[in-house]
Amino acid sequence: MARLSIPKSYKPEIDRCPLCGGKLKYRYAVSNKVIQFSHGEKRRIKNLGYSCTNKDCPHPELIYTSQTASKLCFKGHTFSAKIIAEIMYYKTIHKSRDEIVNIFADDNVEISDRNVDIIYNKLQKWLTMDYKENIKFHYEYMKKEYGKIMLSIDSIALPDKYRFIAIRSFFSQALIGVHLFKCEIDDDFNILDDYLNKDLDIDLIVTIRNIGQTFPQIKKRVNDKCKFISYIKF
Ligand SMILES: [Zn+2]
Repeated sequence: MARLSIPKSYKPEIDRCPLCGGKLKYRYAVSNKVIQFSHGEKRRIKNLGYSCTNKDCPHPELIYTSQTASKLCFKGHTFSAKIIAEIMYYKTIHKSRDEIVNIFADDNVEISDRNVDIIYNKLQKWLTMDYKENIKFHYEYMKKEYGKIMLSIDSIALPDKYRFIAIRSFFSQALIGVHLFKCEIDDDFNILDDYLNKDLDIDLIVTIRNIGQTFPQIKKRVNDKCKFISYIKF
């Protein structure tokens, strides 16, 4: 088991500014926290913030962080994104919160019934909200401020062919939409049509743990100019 005194540090996946191409330089640690993972392991994760060194950059104040580290864990939580996705999955298949706590305890994940409820209620709001309004708002903002749309997409495979997808603005790391669905046929990914189309000037950063199923679905919905940066889970 990793010692919590030794943090694992993550840098941004890019080393050049996406706006002007200037070199990025380390500024400060944006977050430093202990995260609990789905196999019960706890690790201290440090997310390092970098910014552009070009004095003519349109946004030298922007801090770029590691999308990997950001996605390991939802903002405001100390449980990994996988644990959060699993809670939503177990609720979908009608497990009680008591059963969910027991399932996690078997994997040495310490979570209380109250925390299961808090996470479920918070994420349930995301699963049912009008995400199309969020898309409109974030896309317009990114186009206006940064001249391009950059998204980061995390896709987590769950048992029984379920899949959890979280889509964020690359620049602000704000969540745009969260989806949980059963994917047996390609059409089950049609939700991605709301985010991606070939007319959009879009760059993406996606997890490589999803390369098997989600990646081809993303790829066929974007144009050839779309840049992909993949990141690994760790
Ligand atoms: Zn720049």
